Amino acid sequence: MNGKIIPTEDALVSAMEPIYLGIFEGIKAYVEGNVRSSGKLNIFAWKPHIDRLWRSAAVNGITIPYTKEELLQGTIQSIKANGFSTNCYIQPRIWPKAGTGRYLASEFHVVIPTWKFDTFLGEENPHFDDERRYVISSWRRISSDALPPQAKSWANYANSGLAIREAARLGYDGAIFLDRRGFVSEGTGACIMSVRAGKVITPPVTASILESVTRGFFIKFIAEDLDLPVEVRDMTRVELYASDEVFFCGTGAEVTPVSSVDNMKIGEEYPGPVTRKIAEHYSQILAGGIGKYQYMLEPVE
Ligand code: PMP
Repeated sequence: MNGKIIPTEDALVSAMEPIYLGIFEGIKAYVEGNVRSSGKLNIFAWKPHIDRLWRSAAVNGITIPYTKEELLQGTIQSIKANGFSTNCYIQPRIWPKAGTGRYLASEFHVVIPTWKFDTFLGEENPHFDDERRYVISSWRRISSDALPPQAKSWANYANSGLAIREAARLGYDGAIFLDRRGFVSEGTGACIMSVRAGKVITPPVTASILESVTRGFFIKFIAEDLDLPVEVRDMTRVELYASDEVFFCGTGAEVTPVSSVDNMKIGEEYPGPVTRKIAEHYSQILAGGIGKYQYMLEPVE
């Protein structure tokens, strides 16, 4: 925190801090060799995540008082100080320092907490076969002309919270947003992909989505490595119902299959064969098993 290693319970700020004006990133480090074991860690897709943090900062009037390289070194120190040798999550958070101008602030706090998580990926995955029932939210996704979803700010997640709580009240596992035009947008914390007749379809950045690092990478590797056509285009609600397979992708969600939308069962098989294939390939990439993607792994050393 602000250049020092501090135990979480001592990383304190005043209750008057405008944390709600902050931005953040969600990044993961995975174990080399097998994402369900322990050992050496590599941070996946550090560069695109940190580039997005800088874009989120620019949009939100934040000047990050460190270089990208300093944040990388701080992240590595945070992981090492925790002594992690299993997969861990990294969440750089930056917000205006109280008393320095709030919306026009001149000084900023920078904290890089790291903590362990359980992956959905890899063999003998206990979560992958669980049913996941989603509902189309009655709340629309925030739009770019009011609160840009492309920047990763805490404020955006108030919109996600409305949809998550509505879905829970209605007895669903989660929500899917439409954008203000009525096209499929994204989940509350992940991007959405549909598989139909061997093609993968995902909404464009203009459908009020976060510019997801995972989505961008999936678009590339699904086409290049798995030889499946990928269409980035607007998708209607009815097309989503008529999918053979639906899954979420994101740093947190990894690959999360969807079994039904609005109680309409998706496809014949759950999780579908394409979803399984993508998840398997992604877990190999994260474990450093695919040479051409070594450049996306930042070693924790
Ligand atoms: N959309 C939203 C709203 C999210 O919170 C996330 C998670 N950061 C994503 C999409 C996926 O983005 P990424 O692949 O960069 O993690």
